[in-house]
Amino acid sequence: MFELRKLPYGTDSMAGFLSPQTFEYHYGKHHQTYINNLNNLIKGSEFEGKELYDIITKSSGGLFNNSAQVYNHDFYWDCISPSPSEPSNELKDAINSEFGSMDGFKEKFINAATTLFGSGWCWLVFVPATKKLEIVQTSNAATPITDGKIPLLVVDVWEHAYYIDNKNARPAYLEKFFAHIHWAFVSSALEWAKKEGAGSVRFYINGLHKK
Ligand code: MN
Repeated sequence: MFELRKLPYGTDSMAGFLSPQTFEYHYGKHHQTYINNLNNLIKGSEFEGKELYDIITKSSGGLFNNSAQVYNHDFYWDCISPSPSEPSNELKDAINSEFGSMDGFKEKFINAATTLFGSGWCWLVFVPATKKLEIVQTSNAATPITDGKIPLLVVDVWEHAYYIDNKNARPAYLEKFFAHIHWAFVSSALEWAKKEGAGSVRFYINGLHKK
């Protein structure tokens, strides 16, 4: 049985960005529902007792949608923080070489997240094959880990992520998201992605969902 992960901060800690009511719905209801659906779907299936990483990368249909959404949300909560932090020199260098500057990255990331049509996710990933950073848009539950790409940062652009606080104004939500990025977490994700590749994703997931 999978359980909803704990949040690394209080639900009232980012009130100007995400209100306690947003956490009540987005974390307490949406994320919890993916957990409940996943537990119901694996019961009696070949995936019962398997690691979440294996379920995501080997399943399809409802099992894929719910398992991937559990991970996508787990990762999203770690990408934001009420406390400011700085990207590591390694991350700054990687961003500068791919996007020209931090401002260049911000512009491209927010543009990709704004123009993603419908529900989905906008990611910064490390691609082991090219050793480069890439911005990736995914629709619905899709996640870059099924393509062997290693997530470093993600923003949820399903309407449920921003509608309570920002109504239809996705760009206003994205500006505030960018100001709350947990750069220390993103930097650490890059460090482990370079060392361990996809193994770092499995390690992250198993840290949250112990068997
Ligand atoms: Mn969501």
